[in-house]
Amino acid sequence: MGQITLTAKIQIYPDDEQKELLIRTRKAYTDGLNFVSDIVYNSHNLCENDLSRELYPTLRERFGLKSQQSQSVIKRVLSSYKTIQTHEHGWIRPSFKKDQYELVWDRDAAFYKGRLISVNTVRKRIKVPYSVKGYEQYFNNPKYKLGTAKLIIKHGKYYLHVPVTCNVEEPDLVKAQTVVGIDRGLRFIVTTYDSDGKCSFVNGRSITQKRRQYVRIRKRLQKKHTASARRRLRAIGNKEHRWMSDVNHCISKGLVESYPAGTLFVLEDLSGIQEATAKVKRKNRYTMCSWSYFDLEQKLIYKARLKGSIVIKVDPHYTSQRCPICGYTDKGNRDKKKHIFICQSCGYRSNDDRIGGMNLCRLGIEQANALVPGTVAGGV
Ligand SMILES: [Zn+2]
Repeated sequence: MGQITLTAKIQIYPDDEQKELLIRTRKAYTDGLNFVSDIVYNSHNLCENDLSRELYPTLRERFGLKSQQSQSVIKRVLSSYKTIQTHEHGWIRPSFKKDQYELVWDRDAAFYKGRLISVNTVRKRIKVPYSVKGYEQYFNNPKYKLGTAKLIIKHGKYYLHVPVTCNVEEPDLVKAQTVVGIDRGLRFIVTTYDSDGKCSFVNGRSITQKRRQYVRIRKRLQKKHTASARRRLRAIGNKEHRWMSDVNHCISKGLVESYPAGTLFVLEDLSGIQEATAKVKRKNRYTMCSWSYFDLEQKLIYKARLKGSIVIKVDPHYTSQRCPICGYTDKGNRDKKKHIFICQSCGYRSNDDRIGGMNLCRLGIEQANALVPGTVAGGV
């Protein structure tokens, strides 16, 4: 059994009075952290019981923290000291510069009557509307355990970032029944080829167009050297990121869900941006976003693990030049302009976009069969 943790983001919608309370709570919590950090630094005492006994009244009276928050402050400081001591082997005083507030789930923050989240503040518990868009599956499901949330305030918006932990079976290459090669590219964002011989494409044209649009807007803004242009540039960058992340979410979800648990997905190992950019022609490079490749990879890996499937990465060399039928490898096999692959040795012809996926699928089958011969039948 392994474990994976991801972060579910809940947006909350406090009114003005509630916002003020949240900000005050965050400040009190952080002041409490620094206060406890000083005491521990001077006393070298890391015993939680001692600290609770000594500091509890002060945290409550001087900083106005509730009892649960006071405990959480002490725990948080102790864990910082312990982390530092594991790495630095000494007494270094952690200081908490940025205001923060950590909320123990079901205590400092909890769902309330299904429609609201109840949040503990220094004065009282407040009930705020919320949205968990895109993260619904992690809540009200005993499979997932919610950890200590963080209050995040960003661009005037309020969020609770909740770590969600889930136990998953260790992926088992030996049990893989289906193998799917996934080739990432530009013309098609992904091309897949599976061990049943099925090939499918996710067309990248609309994505490339939208990216070009972003590039144009960015160029225009870069020419103006004003503060507002810089602000807009940042905003546009964030928007593009969110959009691309959504696209990748849909693609990875679609891939993982269209195959049974225990499927082996094979990707090219594109560690190092050079490999990723080398895949496209120079004039296309500006549309290439290697970040997006890696983001897709990350999403695919954790979604596959949740489902009990496996993702492996293989050497990307020659995946577009090698004949999937006879193995003959030559640059001349591929006519990039006509998007056609013709093997110079056996004459095998195919749309060149399929070749990468086919070769990846084959490499995956080879790896699975190397462990247990005959595990995966059929293939390329
Ligand atoms: Zn051939």
